[in-house]
This record gives sequence, C-alpha cells and structure tokens, in this order.
Amino acid sequence: MTYPTQPTASHFIDGQYVEDTAGTPIPVIYSATGKQIATVHAATPAIVEQAISAARRAQDGWAALSGTERGRILRRAADMLRDRNHDLSVLETYDTGKPYQETSVADATSGADALEYFGGMAATLTGEHIPLGGGDWAYTRREALGVCVGIGAWNYPTQIACWKAAPALACGNAMIFKPSETTPLCALKVAEILHEAGLPAGLYNVVQGMGEVGAALVGDPRVDKVSLTGSVPTGRKVYAAAAQGMKHVTMELGGKSPLLVFDDADLDAAVSGAILGNFYSSGQVCSNGTRVFVQKGILEPFLARLSERLAQAVIGDPLDPETSFGPMVSEAQMKIVQGYIAKGLDEGARLVTGGRQIARDGFYLEPTVFADVTDDMTIAREEIFGPVMAVLSFDDEDEVMARANATEFGLAAGVFTRDLERAHRVVAGFEAGTCYINTYNDAPVEMPFGGSKLSGVGRENSKAAIEHYSQLKSVYVRMSPLEAPF
Ligand code: NDP
Repeated sequence: MTYPTQPTASHFIDGQYVEDTAGTPIPVIYSATGKQIATVHAATPAIVEQAISAARRAQDGWAALSGTERGRILRRAADMLRDRNHDLSVLETYDTGKPYQETSVADATSGADALEYFGGMAATLTGEHIPLGGGDWAYTRREALGVCVGIGAWNYPTQIACWKAAPALACGNAMIFKPSETTPLCALKVAEILHEAGLPAGLYNVVQGMGEVGAALVGDPRVDKVSLTGSVPTGRKVYAAAAQGMKHVTMELGGKSPLLVFDDADLDAAVSGAILGNFYSSGQVCSNGTRVFVQKGILEPFLARLSERLAQAVIGDPLDPETSFGPMVSEAQMKIVQGYIAKGLDEGARLVTGGRQIARDGFYLEPTVFADVTDDMTIAREEIFGPVMAVLSFDDEDEVMARANATEFGLAAGVFTRDLERAHRVVAGFEAGTCYINTYNDAPVEMPFGGSKLSGVGRENSKAAIEHYSQLKSVYVRMSPLEAPF
C-alpha cells in the first residue's frame, strides 16, 4: 500500500487534528481487498465536548462576517477540492470501494460544486422590507441557526460532508460532522481543505464514531440543528431525539423508488436510466429506481438489452480507471444484499442475470436483475441498497401510477416516454420529492434534492437548502405615536 490512507489523527476539531486513543478503535477496511488500511478511534465524551465547545465559540464571529467574506473562503475551498481531485478520488475509492471511474467525476467534484454554489450565494442572503399601514414597516433578518450537526451515510462520504457543510457555513453556522463509521477518511480531508482555504478554527469539526456518538451530538442542548443522511429507522431515532430540544432537522433517508418505462420510450435510453438507477456505486444510492416498471409490450426486449449491456460491465480493481463496477462497501452490507437475493428466489422472482458473489478478494456481488417481480415481494417493498434491480410489468398508466405510489417511501421517481404530456402528467402524480423525465439520478447542486413520505424532511442543495440552515427574525418598526387602551 503506497497511498497514505492512515489519517494524521481520528478527529479534526478547532482547526487541528485531535486524537484520543481511549475511544473504541474502528478498523477501516478497503472493500476491494478486505484488508485493513487505517484505524480511527471513536470519539470519547471528552472529544464530543471539545467539538461542541469549539463550534459554539467560533460561530458568533463567523456569522458576524459579511456574506462575501464567508463565501470567498468556501469558493477557495471549492477550487482546492478540484485541484486535488485525483488524490481525493483515490481516497474516496479506498474509503468506499467505489470505482475511480466514478469517484473522479462524482464525489470531490460534487462537493466542490456545493462549496462554489453556496459560496456564491452567501453574499446574497438577505431579509426583506415589508411596508405596513400608517407608515409603519417591518423587516426580516435572515440569521444563522447556530451549531449544526451533520451525520453521514457511507455511500458518498465527501459529497455528504460538503452538501451539509456548504449551506451551513454560507449561512453563518458552525458544523460538527460525524461520518459513518464505515467510511471515516474523506470528511477529514474536507476539514483540512476548508481550513487551508481560510476557514477560522472551530467552524468545521469532524468527530468519528458509531451511532452513540451521533446520539450524543444530537442530544446536546448547545446544538441547534441536525442534518442526517441515513436509513429510515435511524431517521426516526434522530428526529425523535432532536424533537426533545425542538431542533431544526433535515432528514435525507432511504427509498424504494419507481422507474416507469412506457412502450414508446427510447429503449436504449431507458436501459441506460435503469443501469444508472440501479448499478452506479454498486447500487448503494438512496435515490435508486429499484422498482423498474416496464410496459408489457416491451418487457422482453428491455430485459434482453439490459442483459447485453450488463455483460459489458467491467468488474475489477476499483483503482483501475477501466473498472466500472466495484465491490459493496462492507462484508456486512454484502451479506444483507445476499439475504435479499435469496428472498427474491424464495418468493418466486425470475433471476435474469447475476445473483452470485464474485470469486475474488473483497465484497463483490454480480449486478443482479430479477423479472416477474410482484408488488408484494420483499425485494419490491424493502430498500436493498445493493446491485439488485426488480423488474415489474404493467398494462396502463393508471394502473402503474397506483402501484408506483403504493410505498411508504417517497424519495425519487422517474419516467421514460416520448409522450410529453404523459411525462408531465406522470411526474405530477408521483408521490416523491425528486423526479426525472428520460434520465435518472442526476443531482446537480442547482436542483433541490430530498424526499417526501418516510424518505425525509427538508431539502439539500439549491436555494431551498438556505431555508433549512437559517431562520428569519421579524422586526416591526413603528413610525407613528404609539397608543394603548389605558
Ligand atoms: P444508517 O441509518 O445506518 O446510518 C446513518 C448515520 O447515522 C451513520 O453515521 C450512523 O452511524 C448514524 N447513526 C446511527 N444511529 C444513530 C443514532 N441513534 N443517533 C445519531 N446517529 C446515528 O445508514 P447507512 O450508513 O447504513 O446508510 C444507508 C442508508 O442511508 C440507506 O437507507 C440510504 O437510503 C440512506 N441514504 C440516503 C440518502 C439521501 O440523501 N436521502 C443518501 C445516501 C444514503 P454508524 O453507522 O457509524 O453507526
């Protein structure tokens, strides 16, 4: 191993690396080999205390800067992320196992987009003037929330760290970020870069640990906001804990999103959408369109084309730029997904392709497609978070809309059709926060991203994120003499 994967220390607090080896050791495993590449230590109560105090101390001064000054630092950090994209992408690959072919275009680059976008927006954040009767008027001040806690899932460690930090810092908040214990490395690099770009100490802190460290942060009365990217069960716990302190929350949770392919669709484009929406990042993407509803007339041609295309996947060493499909993030996640594949077979789904572990080191599963899936099967109802596509067939639009929406999740949904009216009618009817027409899974920073129903609360990215990292103060200004009844 020549690439340095062992971080300087486990945590980054108050502008510097901090260690406390009394914390539980967390081995970092490279999922392409199964070998340990680093060790970090979970935060002890003393580390959590240091992070919260540092954030609290630093936040007022940061909020008092002009938006232009805050934004300049974020934009400088964006440039540095882009300049170091290669090294950051290699680290992201070690952290997650995702192929370099993906990480070099989707992770640090997406983080840089968020820092650039919200850096540019920082100077434009203002309140408004509201004229009232009798010459009175009111104004609003858009103010920071205070200390925000970000808690990340393991699939996009750099992106999640930046998507939360960028709007939080632009609005004048401090942030404490807890990465997933499975992927602790990348957020530390984001912290290093933000500080090198000029971010004052204490405003972006990273603490490692499992759920209990997240829970300690969420429960602290000095924390004002929590933004979680994770599963629905964790979301329920974190939302409930945040409610005790009436804290602001953003919840980016799981999904079981529908992808509808009508018989007038461009077949190759629809197959591309289904591949992007099921096998990118080895299927470990929250917004994946894992219930692929294909209109009956084109079902078999769709499956045939899909199988041909999946045979072209280059499965192998994620650091080889030719590799287009890598391992699962961990052995535990691979076992969960294998359990779902077994359920699919038990419950009578037709295995079209894949289904097996790949005979090599690391945690590789074949891209897997099931057809003849029915709405009641486990693989059509539960989030699998792995490379398993469920293909269902349908006759007409009304029927498929009812079935597509018959889920407790509401993160994303997509439709492939050449009929413009149908496309817009269908997305209007989807019960989902993020929808796609003739594409799938794009997430540019300019577009709000988030879910409805059990998939979440709030939005990341876009102007909408500002609402979730700031609050309005209203000020009534009386211009005429004030009277009272007695
Ligand atoms: P988890 O819900 O298991 O964990 C998410 C994070 O929460 C981890 O950092 C975890 O720590 C932490 N955590 C766990 N329990 C608590 C608690 N009680 N209090 C505070 N923090 C806690 O999700 P995964 O990491 O397994 O990620 C997969 C899930 O994330 C999927 O459901 C996926 O759909 C969703 N996701 C959603 C996205 C979205 O934007 N909507 C994007 C990406 C993923 P640790 O794991 O270290 O113990």
